[in-house]
Amino acid sequence: MKLISAEFVISSTATGRADGIPRDRITQVALAGRSNVGKSTLINALGRSRIARTSAAPGKTRLANVYRLAVDGGAGGPGRWTVYLVDLPGYGYARGGPGAARELAGVAEGYLARRPGRGDSGTPTLLLVDARHPGLEADVDALAWLRSLGVEPHVVATKVDKLTRAERARNLQTAQAAFGTAVLPVSAATGEGLDELWRLIAQLARRT
Ligand code: GDP
Repeated sequence: MKLISAEFVISSTATGRADGIPRDRITQVALAGRSNVGKSTLINALGRSRIARTSAAPGKTRLANVYRLAVDGGAGGPGRWTVYLVDLPGYGYARGGPGAARELAGVAEGYLARRPGRGDSGTPTLLLVDARHPGLEADVDALAWLRSLGVEPHVVATKVDKLTRAERARNLQTAQAAFGTAVLPVSAATGEGLDELWRLIAQLARRT
């Protein structure tokens, strides 16, 4: 697999009619997760450049940020393909109060509700959770919320480099039990799990 290009496309409120979210046929993979879970860092690791701004002030993002990656080959065989990564605003951020939380959920819902479903799993979505805090209530709630929108997310556990082997095994098991689904461990810091994540993204983006 060869990454050809990675670029920022647009920041969008994802709620208006002319919101700027691309309307072409390229697959969009949404990324959801709590503020500070490592979404921007993961997007930069996938894009191998600083296309996403990592948050010095967590929770500031009230917009959906769209990135476009062009790839040659990888899972699914040879050939060039393109995918959008749509970074949805992080949830579970208290500083702005409940109103801010509703606003963030509104952006994500506005986006997800208007994306045509693909198969039975709705909009392809990655739910990012911190590997150090398996099964957090906010994450379990987010999973239920996504399912209520007809989305069956793929759960990705970030920052596994921060765990010992024993902690990792234990936390993954706890997370899988809490979410009732497989959890893919990754680290943007060491690159661990990124090949598997690319395989998943290719499967989502290249299936027709
Ligand atoms: P976002 O709010 O979800 O976009 O989170 P960021 O990407 O800004 O990351 C939040 C913090 O976690 C930053 O200090 C990152 O450096 C750190 N971080 C993100 N990914 C990793 C990782 O894989 N390993 C480690 N050790 N730290 C990470």
